Amino acid sequence: MTLSKIKKENVRRIQAAPFGDAQGRVPYYPRYIQIEHASFCNASCIMCNHFYLGNRGAAFLDPKIIELLMPIYPYVEMIMLNGDGEPFLHPQLQQFTRLYQEYGIIVAANTNLGIKGIDFNEFYGCFDSLSLSCDGAEKETYERIREGLSFEQFCRNAVALKSGLPDIRVIFDVVVMKENLLELFKIVELAAKLGIKEIHFNMLGVNPEIGNESDAVSDCIHLAARELVKAQETGDRLGVKTFVPTVIPKTFDPAVAAAEEKILESTDFNALIKERKACAAKQIREDISDNHLHQETADSDYKYTVPDGKAWCSWGLERCYVDLQGNVTTCCFNVHHYMGNLLETGSFEKIWNGENYRTFRRNMKNGVLPYWCANCTWRTENASKMETGRTIPIKKDVKTVKGTY
Ligand code: SF4
Repeated sequence: MTLSKIKKENVRRIQAAPFGDAQGRVPYYPRYIQIEHASFCNASCIMCNHFYLGNRGAAFLDPKIIELLMPIYPYVEMIMLNGDGEPFLHPQLQQFTRLYQEYGIIVAANTNLGIKGIDFNEFYGCFDSLSLSCDGAEKETYERIREGLSFEQFCRNAVALKSGLPDIRVIFDVVVMKENLLELFKIVELAAKLGIKEIHFNMLGVNPEIGNESDAVSDCIHLAARELVKAQETGDRLGVKTFVPTVIPKTFDPAVAAAEEKILESTDFNALIKERKACAAKQIREDISDNHLHQETADSDYKYTVPDGKAWCSWGLERCYVDLQGNVTTCCFNVHHYMGNLLETGSFEKIWNGENYRTFRRNMKNGVLPYWCANCTWRTENASKMETGRTIPIKKDVKTVKGTY
């Protein structure tokens, strides 16, 4: 059977019975896996754990985990390489991504694109898309947010990437925050200059350990709306497709926006960041490995009931997240509870149809969720339009494999 047929049959099985049988056992495998490849990073961005933890406890993905996932690659449609670090730092990244491609899997990653000396020609045929984290169009803003990186290096790498991998989809990923709010339109101009045709603006994920709540634009929403409208207009003019967060209104009051701008301009971001770093460094967590999944799910986690039709989540059902230690869980929103560990069980199947996942599916079917799902904004924003089995287009049909299904 061809890989495309195997993947399509997998989707058919998901659509036929997303929650599986009465015990929650399913006859399908995940279509999309996010695999953390590295928790090392070459930067310490102001909204990230690396900001105060650096690379303490950081590691690279063990190739054994890649091997243990091998039986499910024929079914998988997409692999995303991110977790806590920069995937391009993994010394075997090229080898891993080529392997995924052999199974007809779409390979995508986010990168800070800040590593000096990457030869993108070596990654020819390894990626389908790359999202470049870019939060500033001016050196000062970019390097203030992306601490440890060089704006010039980023731009040089973007040029080299476009020439080394001309066929892949390249996206600018921008975290919208007060530090860069007034130059969002310039980031669109930068993208156009670098030949990048797509920009995704994302809301800042507030990190309580950093204490960066005040960087979020929720208290200057008119200004945020004005600046995003300007960014979109710039994109329309320059042929760059822009995607803006749905929570930002499309209209704004110009007088309120101007008042918000005055407050923003009087903020000393350098002093704020310095102060936060000093406070965050005192936090109890001692190294980056403490951010990883460390607790198996339990029956007592299922305490929340949500209305009919609002509990389904395609991350929970047809996707999964695998961290550096081989812990398997539903998604990267839930980084502290896992369903099972690949190195301990020695098999993905034992986890995927094991007791923890079966309990999760039975509960989700009945609208009963653990707290991380109950509080998950991704679910609340996507549940109503979720059509399990239909979210990832099958694009590749590479070769024939026998003995699957
Ligand atoms: S509801 Fe949210 S936390 Fe739960 S599986 Fe889905 S994406 Fe993950």
